[in-house]
Amino acid sequence: MEPIDLRSDTVTRPTPAMRAAMVDAAVGDDVYGEDPSVNALQRRLADELGFEAALFVPTGTQSNLLALMAHCERGDEYLVGADAHTYKFEGGGAAVLGSIQPQPIPQDADGSLPLDKLAAAIKPVDPHFARTRVLALENTWHGRVMSMDYIRAARDFTHERGLGFHLDGARLFNAAVASGVPAREIARHFDSVSVCLSKGLGAPVGSVLVGSAMLIDKARRWRKVAGGGWRQAGMLAAAASYALDHHVARLADDHARAATLAAGLSDIPGIKLLGQFTNMVFIDVPADRLRELDVHLREAGVRISIGYLPTLRLVTHLDVDDEGVARTVAAFRAFFAGGRRA
Ligand SMILES: *Cc1c(COP(=O)(O)O)cnc(C)c1O
Repeated sequence: MEPIDLRSDTVTRPTPAMRAAMVDAAVGDDVYGEDPSVNALQRRLADELGFEAALFVPTGTQSNLLALMAHCERGDEYLVGADAHTYKFEGGGAAVLGSIQPQPIPQDADGSLPLDKLAAAIKPVDPHFARTRVLALENTWHGRVMSMDYIRAARDFTHERGLGFHLDGARLFNAAVASGVPAREIARHFDSVSVCLSKGLGAPVGSVLVGSAMLIDKARRWRKVAGGGWRQAGMLAAAASYALDHHVARLADDHARAATLAAGLSDIPGIKLLGQFTNMVFIDVPADRLRELDVHLREAGVRISIGYLPTLRLVTHLDVDDEGVARTVAAFRAFFAGGRRA
């Protein structure tokens, strides 16, 4: 029995049709700018999201790093959510590799960074201080879709204050599909946007950074410096293009399955449903039963990340079907019906 893997939407494997598209891809040397499949992917996403240029890179972490390094110089800083991926989950890369200091801002429950806190965090122009240069947002954040009103207000704020405006849009298409607002309409407010193809879209590898031609030129240089100048990457780009053609609209299925999963879990005594947002479900379980639950779920063929915290995140994706959702709910139900082992 194949385990149902709800740890993340990164765990998807390429479908047979995607693999076929990869095998047939035209390739060239991308460091020379000669890979037709990479160029087609970059052109297409730049056009679709309304930007001059795009850059295909191995990971979202590198995409965000290159964006920050393109926006900033050594000794600059970026404003970022204290719980944002770009601050918390990227190894401090902007500081380590870019000499760019983060200024983390506590986020509201919807992931937004209050504008008054941002205004208070901007440093005066003075040799004592790092130069505040860019605001980085994340959408979706923990599955939550950021409101367009907030995005517009934050954009106006960055314009008034002369800041660059970056979006970690790892799950931009989840936000678009869930809200009905086209990805282009979300993206157009930003100066740069990073999109992951390897999350819910189901490509094996890759992210794309979009921005102005000048910003992308800088990012391309830093990609090479970071060791990310790849060669016949066209086979990966073909998978990404296939994902954009075939796997965007179906994100709605992941969201619907997450809702079904949330509903199924919510009436199991012992589980507290914290919320369901796009393809993510958050629950609390008793902290003293985490180890036991971990063993039980593994035996039932359900994989989720269980550490030492009572809050668990379950993520639906391309490789989770209705049967997988049903099996997951049944496994949780059996565990909590079983009571406490002595
Ligand atoms: C996954 C993710 C990234 C990038 O992660 P990689 O594993 O480096 O591709 C960036 N931001 C968010 C919000 C993510 O979920």
